[in-house]
Amino acid sequence: MKCKRCRGKAVVQVRQHNAAFCRGCFVFFFQRQVQRAIERERMFTLDDAVLVAVSGGKDSLALWDVLIELGYRTAGVHLALGIGGYSRRSTEKTEAFACRRGVRLISVRLDEEDAAIPTLSAFTNRPACAACGTSKRHHLDRVAFEQGFSVLATGHNLDDEAARLLGNVLHWQVQHLAKQQPVLASTHERFARKVKPLFRLSEYEAAVYAFVRGIDYIIEECPNSVGATQLVYKDVLNRLEAVMPGTKLAFVNDFLRTGRAAFATDGAGLPQTCAGCGMPTFASLCSYCSLLREVESKRARFVVPAAGTAQ
Ligand code: AMP
Ligand code: ZN
Repeated sequence: MKCKRCRGKAVVQVRQHNAAFCRGCFVFFFQRQVQRAIERERMFTLDDAVLVAVSGGKDSLALWDVLIELGYRTAGVHLALGIGGYSRRSTEKTEAFACRRGVRLISVRLDEEDAAIPTLSAFTNRPACAACGTSKRHHLDRVAFEQGFSVLATGHNLDDEAARLLGNVLHWQVQHLAKQQPVLASTHERFARKVKPLFRLSEYEAAVYAFVRGIDYIIEECPNSVGATQLVYKDVLNRLEAVMPGTKLAFVNDFLRTGRAAFATDGAGLPQTCAGCGMPTFASLCSYCSLLREVESKRARFVVPAAGTAQ
């Protein structure tokens, strides 16, 4: 097998693009794909301050690495979510990456008291992944706003986007379909533009890129993801992909090109300001502050007053 670019010995095969590359040319190919996505989808320019949400996994660290290499102005943000040893090891990976590259990382500790995911989930009877999603959205939006970033980039890859699309279609989540796109414009001065520069690159390509670039990332999956429906969708899509290479890419691309417009809406009107945290919301309290209030009120019910305390 020969490298498509330099005709040297190829070591990476990218079936969805019907191409193979040597190590050096694969790095070039991957970085160019990211650059093209950023430019074609008008995600951001060299002048924008981009906040990269890094989990410690291969996708987000690969994304940060590419953006640094391409000369974009970035800082990372990492949320320590309090999911036991898994979160501790994730935090270590992001800190080691930032230290090695000499780049700024904003670390947010949510591993104490009520903000930790196990507490949020147990006290509110929400599945851990639902509580985690609400918490991540809130804190990433908040940090981007407070630290003055106009763009928030995440490491969502093609497999994530295809699985999400499949789930949204299977349940005809029309409101979610309307919003599933690689660039979400800011709808409020406190919301950064949200972008997914890896949306056309597969999990496999991101893993190869991270490996070839010597990026040390957390390989284990979040313990809460065991049995998650998202993984079932990914498995189904992988089986289709094995028989018909290019299925995932066509599914996502064709949805964006022809399908999505059918679901587009005018939006949900003007957001109000959350009474708890000041971030935009469509209710009096945002969903994150509602979660916290629920934890507080349940905790208060379980607190046993000390002996002799007036009732
Ligand atoms: P996930 O929701 O775990 O599939 O992750 C999707 C993307 O969200 C990742 O690629 C990151 O960009 C971001 N992300 C996930 N977990 C964290 C975290 N703990 N801190 C910062 N960003 C995160
Ligand atoms: Zn709030």
